[in-house]
Amino acid sequence: MIVSILGARPQFVKAAAVSRALVERGLEEKIVHTGQHFDDNMSDVFFRELGIPAPALNLGIGGGTHGQNTGRMLEAIEGVLVAFKADLVLVYGDTDSTLAGALAASKLHIPVAHVEAGLRSFNRRMPEEVNRVVTDHVSDLLFAPTETAMVNLAREGIKGCHLVGDVMFDVALHYATQVEARPAPIEGLPAGFALATVHRASNTDDSALLATILEAFRRSPLPIVLPLHPRTRKMIASFGLAIPARVIVCPPVGFLDMVWLERRARVILTDSGGVQKEAYFQGVPCVTLRDETEWTELVDAGWNRLCPPASAEAIVAAIEAALASKPTPATLYGDGNAAGKIAAILAASSATAP
Ligand code: UDP
Repeated sequence: MIVSILGARPQFVKAAAVSRALVERGLEEKIVHTGQHFDDNMSDVFFRELGIPAPALNLGIGGGTHGQNTGRMLEAIEGVLVAFKADLVLVYGDTDSTLAGALAASKLHIPVAHVEAGLRSFNRRMPEEVNRVVTDHVSDLLFAPTETAMVNLAREGIKGCHLVGDVMFDVALHYATQVEARPAPIEGLPAGFALATVHRASNTDDSALLATILEAFRRSPLPIVLPLHPRTRKMIASFGLAIPARVIVCPPVGFLDMVWLERRARVILTDSGGVQKEAYFQGVPCVTLRDETEWTELVDAGWNRLCPPASAEAIVAAIEAALASKPTPATLYGDGNAAGKIAAILAASSATAP
């Protein structure tokens, strides 16, 4: 029995590809939802749209500090893994749910498999970086999306690594036709727009940076469409900031609507990890509102430019440079069958043998 620990939006997207591949391989999986993301538009919509099997259990843990959430999840997941007689625990990405799942399993001597292993920003102030590093070090099977991730893991002396490609690329290919056939998710969209997402704590929890980002959106050469993450909405309100009138703001959208918007955007501005890659999958240049990125190959290939949100002028200049750029196609994230490779490796592993 494989037990997958999911809790946050990017994990649902990745699980869509992997859970499908596990079924195709005849591997039994139970999903445990930690409850980290709980709104319909941050959680349930992904299960509905992407055909992810319903969670066997929702732990309902969220809303606390990192320590509170991770601690409560660790305790709850330990009991669940014993009750479900887990043979292997599958974790995704870099959230508190990832860390709690990996720690609980490794303390019970249950093998841990980490999807999206080896990513590094080399910035330990990011909670995600701590989660990734610790998770990689207690994992037995590490599924790396890129060569760079493999190099990072080798440098840390970690064994059990497999270069499989990026499951998010599998997802992008799988839903391309369905997305194309959808109607516009927002009425009255301008012909040329920039799509933006902002939710990293380093941006949302600093009033000066958040104000600078909003000011850049006000001055942007193209109108901005902004599906607003609940944390960012909360912080904008608590700092007493105003969203410029020109910004088309909406609640977080479902995955298929998000990809629809990404495909039609002329440029994407984001601090999301997943959205940086999806911009590239859709052939759209990206500006990343951070000091560094884990997805360095996108910067090297000219698809992405880093712009720390220290000045509105710099962000506007980066938008203009991205709009004028003509990056060349590249193959950066595998062949679209990363999930199939993961399922094959799991099927061959002694942990899942009948
Ligand atoms: N996403 C979405 N709706 C939105 C914003 C993002 O479906 O309103 C999707 C996006 O397409 C990507 C994933 O959420 O697949 C990225 O998640 P997020 O940005 O929350 O996390 P990160 O990738 O930074 O860990």
